[in-house]
Amino acid sequence: MATAGVDVTMVSVGADLPWLTGYRAMPLERLTMLVVPVDGEATMFVPRLEVPRVTERADVFRVVGWDETTDPVALVAAATGAARSIAIGDQTWARFLVDLQAHLPGAGWRRASEVLGPLRAVKDEAEIEGLQQAASAVDRIAAQLQAGEIPLVGRTEAAVSDDLSRRIVAEGHGQVNFAIVAAGDNAASPHHHAGSRVIEPGHIVLCDFGGTFPLGDSGVGYCSDITRCVHIGEPPAEVAEMYAVLQEAQARAVAAAVVGAPAREVDDVARRLIADGGYDGLFIHRLGHGIGVEEHEDPYLVAGNDAPLVAGNAFSIEPGIYAEGRWGARIEDIVVATDHGPRALNTADHGLAVVDA
Ligand code: ZN
Ligand code: ZN
Ligand code: ZN
Repeated sequence: MATAGVDVTMVSVGADLPWLTGYRAMPLERLTMLVVPVDGEATMFVPRLEVPRVTERADVFRVVGWDETTDPVALVAAATGAARSIAIGDQTWARFLVDLQAHLPGAGWRRASEVLGPLRAVKDEAEIEGLQQAASAVDRIAAQLQAGEIPLVGRTEAAVSDDLSRRIVAEGHGQVNFAIVAAGDNAASPHHHAGSRVIEPGHIVLCDFGGTFPLGDSGVGYCSDITRCVHIGEPPAEVAEMYAVLQEAQARAVAAAVVGAPAREVDDVARRLIADGGYDGLFIHRLGHGIGVEEHEDPYLVAGNDAPLVAGNAFSIEPGIYAEGRWGARIEDIVVATDHGPRALNTADHGLAVVDA
């Protein structure tokens, strides 16, 4: 905060609060707000009836419960003292920010991600272990998919998505975040919503799924996110050729994700290989996103991001090639930049597995 020139940081709903304190605010109309002055005691303001949910950490923050007839915004505003520069959690509800601005007309407002983003983006050993447990759990599901143990033919995308979701929980996640299943030309839509299409022979089936895996009893969990594709029956030459280019681009981008490399450069490695392979313009999204307690967070591997990767950054490497009306494919791993080179947390086979059923 001192480096960023911030006097007070305030966080409410969203991932910053549990990352800092182990407590997740209820996303309701009653205000929960942690107020952290640059020098001074941190205080969490919580609705009185929710105080029993909070595990107080007297060495880290104190808890103040507010009563039903108290104005919590006035209470929080008073706790900021004479702060001129206030960083507020990016996901704080607009109604609270609007009311706080009315109480503190002299303050300048910044996003808390300016302070917390760079801190959250560098994972410590325990966090990397959490990400590894999550990655290994979805790797086991990817292996089931590739081995033909998850029935596909004759089922709808939605039914397979439900099946993947059950397996995400069965493998130890506390919560399912998404389970994209896209068959045939639906795979050309990167964020396709699994629907009523029935999977049949000749389809490529793209599965992109993940959840949040609890890290011991810390109150937080770390996310998994993996994409693998399978083909029902032997793929036609056009699909096999496209997939070979994609697999090479993904592997080369993982290898390029070294400490010190600008994030945009890693994106560019995959993008150039895909263009040179004859698919210019068909990789329609950024290469990857940071991952941690949230499924998307800093750093983003995208053109224009000059920030160099640092040891402890964890992010996805997920190039895709999408031909509208025909097919699409994506391969995604979670990778950690380390002083000994890139460490891929996902190791499930990267090939286009052929399944019959
Ligand atoms: Zn995505
Ligand atoms: Zn994904
Ligand atoms: Zn992803």
